[in-house]
Order: sequence, then C-alpha cells, then structure tokens
Amino acid sequence: MIPEPAGELIYRCLHCDAQFGILHLLYTCPECGHVLLLYDAEFDRLKQISGQTWRRIFDYRRMLNQPALNGIYRYHEFIGPILPLDDVVWLGEGHTPVVEANARMQGKAGGRFFFKNDGQNPSASFKDRGMASALSYIRYLIREGHVSDVLAVCASTGDTSAAAALYASFLQPDVKSAVLLPHKRVTPQQLSQPLGSGAMVFEIPGVFDDCMKIVEHLSENYNVALLNSKNAWRILGQESYSYEIAQEFEYEMTDKVVVAPIGNAGNITAIISGFLKFHEIGLIDELPKIIGVQSEHANPVYKYYMEPDPEKRRFEPVQVKPSVAQAAMIGNPVSMPRVIRLVSEYNQRAGQQKISVVEVSEQDIMDWQLRANRNGHVVCTHGGECLAGMVAARSCGKIAAHETVVLDSTAHALKFSDFQQMYFENRFPAEYGITPRSELINAPELVQPGDLEKVPQPGKHLSGQPLDAFVRRVAEEIAHRLELKRV
Ligand SMILES: *Cc1c(COP(=O)(O)O)cnc(C)c1O
Ligand SMILES: [Zn+2]
Repeated sequence: MIPEPAGELIYRCLHCDAQFGILHLLYTCPECGHVLLLYDAEFDRLKQISGQTWRRIFDYRRMLNQPALNGIYRYHEFIGPILPLDDVVWLGEGHTPVVEANARMQGKAGGRFFFKNDGQNPSASFKDRGMASALSYIRYLIREGHVSDVLAVCASTGDTSAAAALYASFLQPDVKSAVLLPHKRVTPQQLSQPLGSGAMVFEIPGVFDDCMKIVEHLSENYNVALLNSKNAWRILGQESYSYEIAQEFEYEMTDKVVVAPIGNAGNITAIISGFLKFHEIGLIDELPKIIGVQSEHANPVYKYYMEPDPEKRRFEPVQVKPSVAQAAMIGNPVSMPRVIRLVSEYNQRAGQQKISVVEVSEQDIMDWQLRANRNGHVVCTHGGECLAGMVAARSCGKIAAHETVVLDSTAHALKFSDFQQMYFENRFPAEYGITPRSELINAPELVQPGDLEKVPQPGKHLSGQPLDAFVRRVAEEIAHRLELKRV
C-alpha cells in the first residue's frame, strides 16, 4: 500500500531508440538530437498485480493523510517509481476537482460534460504536476550527491515559469531559478508569479518560440537544469492528469472523451501516455477518446493531422498570430515527435482512431469561456477553447450524443482576466478577430446620485444626517436600476 523505491527509469530516444541512464539530466538524445521520454525498464513487474488490486491500492491511498501521497505520487509506481517518498515535493498539486456543468450549460453545448479544474493547482495551472515531478527528481539527485547548486531555467508562455519558480523556491537554497518570458506576451498575473517566488525573470523580445531557442542554447552550453517540457520528467508528472480522471470515474472509460488544448504539446503527450500505461496494466479496460484543440491562430498540430494519409503527413511549424489561448500560442511544439509516436501507438492499441485534433476560432474561445463562467465555472481561456472544441467536435460527429466529455481547464480564469476585460470593453486589437456579443458583456456601474451634498471618501467617513441621506439615495438608485418593488 505504501510505495517503496523500485523499477529502473531510463531515457529513451523516440527517433533512434537509444537508451540512457537517468543520473545525468538529459533533454535530447546525445546521439541524434531528438526528444526523449522516460520509460521504466521493469514496467512489466506492475502486471503481477491485477488491475482490480491496483484500483484498490489507489482508492486506499486516497484515504491516507501522507503528504508525499497526497498529490501526483498517489500513483508513485507510474510517476516516479525510483524516488523515495522523502524526496517528494508536494505543494498541494493534483486531485483537482472534476465539476459537472449544469443542465442549462449542457443543453447549450449539446451534451454531458465536466470541467477538470487544473487552475486549482497551487500556481493556478496544470504545470504544477510536471514541476512536482521534475523538482522531486532534482531533490533526489541533490540528496544522493549527483548534483549541487542547481540553476533551473525555463522559457514560458507564463505558466511554466510560475510553476518552475514556485517549486524551485521551495528547495531554497539548493535550487535557484531563472525564467525567460516573451516581453508583453504574458499576463500581469503570470509575470507577478515568478517575481513573487523570487526567481530571476528575463523578458525577451519576440514570442515563446524565440525564448525557447535561447534556453535551448543555454542548456546545451552551460550548466543549467532545463525545466521546459523537453525535460521528460515534466511529462511523467503530467500523466497524473489521466490517472486522476480514471480514478474519478471509477476506472470506467467507455464512452468517455478527454479534451485538452495543445500548445507545446507536452500536456497531450502526457495524457495519451498516462492512459496507455493504465490500459496496459489493466487498470482501465478501454481507452477514452482524446481530442486536442488548437486556435486558428496557432494550429500546427491541427494542420498536420488534416492530411488523412499518415504516409503523406509532413510537420510544418506555423507563424503564430495573437491568441487569447495565449499559453498555447506556439508555432513549433517541442513535443510534436512524441505526439506523432504516441498517437499512432494509441490508435493501434485501441484498434481504431481514438485521437483527433480540432481547430476553433478566437471568437468561439472567448464566447464559450464567458458562457461557461456565467454558469458556475472558473475556467481560463484554454478551458473555453476546450469547450469550443467540444462543440465543434460534436457538430462534426467526432463526439457522439451519448458520450461524456471531460474538458481541461488548464489554468484559473483569474490568470487571464485581462482578455475578459478586453472583451467587455471591446478593445481587442483587430488581429484577434474578436467582436464582443452584447449579451456576454458585463461592466461595473458607478452609483453616485448627483443630488447628494456629501459622499464618503477615504479617511472622511460620514455620520448623522449626511450618512442617512447617502444610504437612502444610493439604495433608491440601486432599487431603481434593478427595478425592485417595495415590500
Ligand atoms: C502550457 C499551457 C497550455 C499548453 O500546454 P502544452 O503542454 O504546452 O501543450 C495550455 N493552457 C495553459 C493554461 C498552459 O499553461
Ligand atoms: Zn536518438
């Protein structure tokens, strides 16, 4: 029930199949330069335990109160089997709520769906899952004496740096962090996060893809630990998202559809990989459908899969345009080779095409985000993107009427409230192509009747008759605007 270190993790190159030990931090294959994934060379030992027993183990761990097992390492054997629990960094990530939409919303969107609120992770995005894994591993390397004085670096569309800075700050003074952000392409909230965690923050002209080139150069030429999703430990931690969905739905994946946004494609890689592993061990009997969503303004993965003939598919990076799904505004996803490999494995294992990619407009992303949040949700623009993607997939028959959908709200609404504000004030630059719908606009109204002699001001309270007059007049004014009836 309580996990012990076991197994043997190795890096494996997705291109030339070369394998490497994990005691050196690797991001790309030293032989051919392609991306890597982590595999457990002794994964098959997990098959000695039946799916039924694994389910009992995870359900039992859910009831424990042991910090190391409270988060993603509830699934220790699948996430980081070599790690002693003492090295696990848990800052509250994982086991985010899965919230069913109300009947009204399900009616509007054409079927049953839930949001999984990954914005309720500690730095308010799903990136915490991968950082918990990457930093737990670094903590292990430090304690074992393999590395010291780690400088962790990453490029970010905002949320990776927030998560990296947070988890690195927990490991002060052994780990310091530096983050590179595209200048003016992250929200003020996202900028405040690594600053608040004490990271060194560098703003770089250009977009994310430019920042990524620079951290790649740094990681190839200097002694730094790269925390982008090139780092396969990030992917491993993010697989917990799939495990949680499986457990939440009591391991019944028949007629389930999981929808996620695609940016650098680390998230979708992890989701696919996670379900594959649970299926292989018999924890789930069926693989759910998976649908990736991209904005028309950053759609290289969608374009790749537009070509129906796998032989003819060619990956072409795209030049991105501004997108409200800003954390996914990526034209050349680092994990594309992982996606190509895992999608074909997944479809093969399922015996049919179970993964597809849809594209949505900026307008639909904003409209669906705002509609969701007017019906009890707290989803970010990427959550809106998933909802818009679900509606598109339902209308073209990729999702059937009887199927239940889990949408990934990858971050909290508050991180992206600037876009909501731009919508409400109709000041999106033309390049977004977004025209606000009047029924979704909202704005505060100032209530200050002109006939009042005195109103309260900071440091100047009212009392007596002026206060009574103020209360009565303002209440009258509000009652008038709300068309309230007197009792
Ligand atoms: C990083 C991020 C994405 C994109 O995920 P990838 O793994 O890069 O595909 C989507 N939404 C939010 C909020 C993110 O932070
Ligand atoms: Zn290789």
